[in-house]
Amino acid sequence: MSTSPTTTTDESRKRLAPDPSKTSGTNAAKTASEIRKERLGGRDASSIPMPAQVDQKRIYYSYLISFIVFHTLALGVFVPWLFSWTGFASLVVFSYAFGAVGIPITYHRLLTHRSFKTPKWFERFLVVIALCNGQETPARWVAWHRLHHHESDHQEDPHSPLVNFLWSHFQWLIYENGNTAKFSLYQKYARDILADPFYMWLEKKTYAGVAIFAAHGVLIFLATWLIGGLTMGFAMPAFQLACSVFIWGVVARIVVMWHVTWSVNSLSHMFGYRNYETDDHSRNNWFVALISSGEGWHNNHHADQSAATVQHKWWEFDLNYYIIVMFSWMGLATNIVPPLHKRRAAREKQA
Ligand SMILES: [Zn+2]
Ligand SMILES: [Zn+2]
Repeated sequence: MSTSPTTTTDESRKRLAPDPSKTSGTNAAKTASEIRKERLGGRDASSIPMPAQVDQKRIYYSYLISFIVFHTLALGVFVPWLFSWTGFASLVVFSYAFGAVGIPITYHRLLTHRSFKTPKWFERFLVVIALCNGQETPARWVAWHRLHHHESDHQEDPHSPLVNFLWSHFQWLIYENGNTAKFSLYQKYARDILADPFYMWLEKKTYAGVAIFAAHGVLIFLATWLIGGLTMGFAMPAFQLACSVFIWGVVARIVVMWHVTWSVNSLSHMFGYRNYETDDHSRNNWFVALISSGEGWHNNHHADQSAATVQHKWWEFDLNYYIIVMFSWMGLATNIVPPLHKRRAAREKQA
């Protein structure tokens, strides 16, 4: 059986906190704090260098240019001709329909942590939804996030704010990191994802994910133009409405969702309170929780990674979990992993 951390379980979480009593040789005499220092990072560290294989001279221009183009186009929300309440509504509705469903629910809780199960056809449909957010193929997203949990706030964490804020927010995506770029990393951390031929195809044919991403934008534009044309006549107002929905519901929504995801990596490892003394800087951040429909309760998540919910206190509202529950009412989600205290209680009952 592979020892690769293909899923984050209670066991994999234990690896985050080295226990000096279980180490051998020279390590046996070292204190826990000395061992943590050697690993460059962790709860007590205040700064760490970039991951060892980052080459700041090598820039991914495709990422950099995409970020600049989308942010520039998103400024269209300040152009009065492009404003409409339908456009604004599309930003809100699509942020949940594509953003929340695609990233926190599908890429994060379903694929990375296996916090619930869905029928295969529905899982693949959800992955197509996730691709409409311009946030990587499933194997990469999953591998990078499992690496984050495995190395949280240690040097090989791909996006720790202990390097600096901008690094954790988006710079880590722009500079080449020999570790996160290699296929063997996806095979190690996302073997279960690559076992699905569709996800492997997406990994091998990188244009496929980009084509799905582009197609959803074009479809939304054309569908709005068609509906506008049929209701208002095919004149300038219908074209204007299509442009408005495209800028608000596609471009601005994608930029917003980028920053939402990036904020979980940056702000939720910098600001907020901690319910658990995990060996990292994860925090429960109400602002990030609000904009990410729950993901901001990130210290809860680091402490209990497999649970489908991150709501550990009644006020730590986790909308993403309730959407998963809604899927279960429709027969589309099963095996929903309960929080750790309930899993423990169930185990004790069995014993
Ligand atoms: Zn984290
Ligand atoms: Zn996670």
